[in-house]
Amino acid sequence: MQRDVLATPAPQPPGAWAQLLQHSILGSSGSCTTGISASGRGNPSRGTARQQGGLPTPSSCPPRRGVAGMRSRQRMFAAVMRLLLKCLRLGRRRRFKLVRQVEQLWHYGHLCLRSLFYNSFTNGDVVLDSLFEPVYWLVDHVTRWFGVVFVALVIGLTSSIVAIVYICLLPLILQTYTPAWICWHLAYGHWNLIMIVFHYYMAITTSPGHPPQAKNDLTGVSICRKCIAPKPARTHHCSICNRCVLKMDHHCPWLNNCVGHYNHRYFFSFCLFMTMGCIYCSISGWEMFRDAYAAIERMKLLEKERLQVAANQTYYQTPPPTFSFRQRAFHKSVVYLWVLCSSVALALGALTLWHAALITRGETSIERHINRKERQRLQKKGKVFRNPYSYGSWDNWKVFLGVDVPRHWLTRVLLPSPHPPHGTGLSWDLPPCVMEQHAPLLAI
Ligand SMILES: [Zn+2]
Ligand SMILES: [Zn+2]
Repeated sequence: MQRDVLATPAPQPPGAWAQLLQHSILGSSGSCTTGISASGRGNPSRGTARQQGGLPTPSSCPPRRGVAGMRSRQRMFAAVMRLLLKCLRLGRRRRFKLVRQVEQLWHYGHLCLRSLFYNSFTNGDVVLDSLFEPVYWLVDHVTRWFGVVFVALVIGLTSSIVAIVYICLLPLILQTYTPAWICWHLAYGHWNLIMIVFHYYMAITTSPGHPPQAKNDLTGVSICRKCIAPKPARTHHCSICNRCVLKMDHHCPWLNNCVGHYNHRYFFSFCLFMTMGCIYCSISGWEMFRDAYAAIERMKLLEKERLQVAANQTYYQTPPPTFSFRQRAFHKSVVYLWVLCSSVALALGALTLWHAALITRGETSIERHINRKERQRLQKKGKVFRNPYSYGSWDNWKVFLGVDVPRHWLTRVLLPSPHPPHGTGLSWDLPPCVMEQHAPLLAI
């Protein structure tokens, strides 16, 4: 009975390690009675039975008291070791869990970052474009905003020239020129002005044409990396308009619009007629410019002499000016007109000649660079490159101007005409006005 009590201790609750420690300390000091009474506290009936049955109490047995204390210490030591092992195992488990969570977070973040920048079209050019994207953004926005300023500048400068012609030159022409020259100047000047105004208005208000977003049966298309949409042949993305433009030539800040399939003719006609108008004004106003320039030089000389005379005089009355305000304004206006017109004629004339050469070759400004590279690439392979959109010089002009029959040279070229270009800009079939034998052969 006593052996049972010593061998099978009462089960210890999880939170009783402090009590165990206390018992161990007390046991080691030789207080065996306290230890027994403590173990008997779990089963009071046993203690009572011992006392009632006259069994020897542990306090009356000194050797057994030492054994019980040692076993108690062993039990306590084992329990403490178990507790330490449990704590270590728990800490290791928690540490591993934390590391796993950090690893998962790192992999998730890395995957998110790569998914944001990954693209199957990524190459060196894309990386370079991405690095220069802030510069492009600045240039695009500045060009977009300056486009409005440039359009206002074109309208303002053209209006000033027209005003000078009407206010200063026309009365003089009507007074001094012969009737034949008056008719010529009136007819040509007004025709040229109408052509300029019409084509400039049409160029800035006509959309260059954009590929449809929904249509997906386009033949021979590529994918625009910016729009993520089908891009037909000859279509290019304009970063300023932020759209794909059919048969894109370039983005013109002077129009604040892209030059593409539907307004290419208006743009070229405007350049051509503006150049013609400037040349006309420069040639017609050459004699007047020389006279006005000489008059201004004379004015400066007389003004200097007048100031010298006024400085030598003793009275305070200023001598009257030798030229009236109207004469000064007239001479300066004529000089301004001639200088501006001749400058624009030179600059715009060069641009017009460049575009005329491109039209003759059946190319746009962008295709000029693409075709040159392609020509060089094929030349190295011993092959000849032929532009698939060129129908021959003369036919290229007819297709560009929309001349199907001879009378169209008058009605569609020499007079303002809003006729649309051939085709839709999505596919490039042979225009009806082009002879079949002129169809080019594409060398690949
Ligand atoms: Zn695009
Ligand atoms: Zn554009």
